[in-house]
Amino acid sequence: MYDVPIGVFTSIDAGLGVNFDVVCELGLKSIQLHTPKRESRTPDNASAFLYKLSEHDIKITTVFLGFEGESYETIEITSQTVGFVPPKTRSARLVEAFEISDFAKLLGVTYIGSHIGFVPHDRRSNEYAKVVETIRTLCEYLKKNSQALTLETGQESVQLLLMFMDDVACDNIFINFDPANLILYGIGNPIEALKLVGKRVRGVHCKDAVSTTGTPGVDWGREVPFGSGEVDAEKFIKTLREIGYSGALTIEREIPEQPERQKEEIDAAIKLINSIKSRIF
Ligand code: MG
Repeated sequence: MYDVPIGVFTSIDAGLGVNFDVVCELGLKSIQLHTPKRESRTPDNASAFLYKLSEHDIKITTVFLGFEGESYETIEITSQTVGFVPPKTRSARLVEAFEISDFAKLLGVTYIGSHIGFVPHDRRSNEYAKVVETIRTLCEYLKKNSQALTLETGQESVQLLLMFMDDVACDNIFINFDPANLILYGIGNPIEALKLVGKRVRGVHCKDAVSTTGTPGVDWGREVPFGSGEVDAEKFIKTLREIGYSGALTIEREIPEQPERQKEEIDAAIKLINSIKSRIF
């Protein structure tokens, strides 16, 4: 059996993840954590949370960066508000990312995940150079904390993402592969993309989606329960095994406004992944 842990994207007080109590009810032992709000990121809270995690034998694989003012309302608004690409908030968010890295260190977490935003497509532009420099500075800071950065896929082609990572030129920059995002943003086939990024994957989101019926890249596709969209869950997990991925399979279902449905669909995803894992030798 392909023996990798199943996890779930989790939120304490910010982000679209599942509530921590639900993680315990589902019996999962691995989570990615959306970074808590700034006022919650205290040493005392880190200690209390570590105690809670140890009580349930749960490990955090990744702390995901999230910032005030980010909005995924439309693809256009996402490009204007998310990550380190919007110039107005770039410096302040870099400083906040350092703080989040320190908080994650208190939790003993190695990987810091990030939607860095839409990487500028023109490699010779000033903005591209500035985003490269910002992410290099972040990677250097993470290195001092013995941490690495994982970039979420989907907002640009993986070819562009790989070129960007090469330009950052740090040995602690990797990928958190979200196959659904490639469909949601109209970027392309996630399985082919996964083969291209191969060994650079250090985290994944088991998330699914169907393509937009409008204009790809302008209108959102629709997120759906894992296994019911266009990702091809079995092929996705088989391909992860083929590229030698041995980290957690972290389920992500972004419907916190419907907690009962969110829990049921995550439970169904756990069963699906277990049945796929049992078929993969
Ligand atoms: Mg994701």
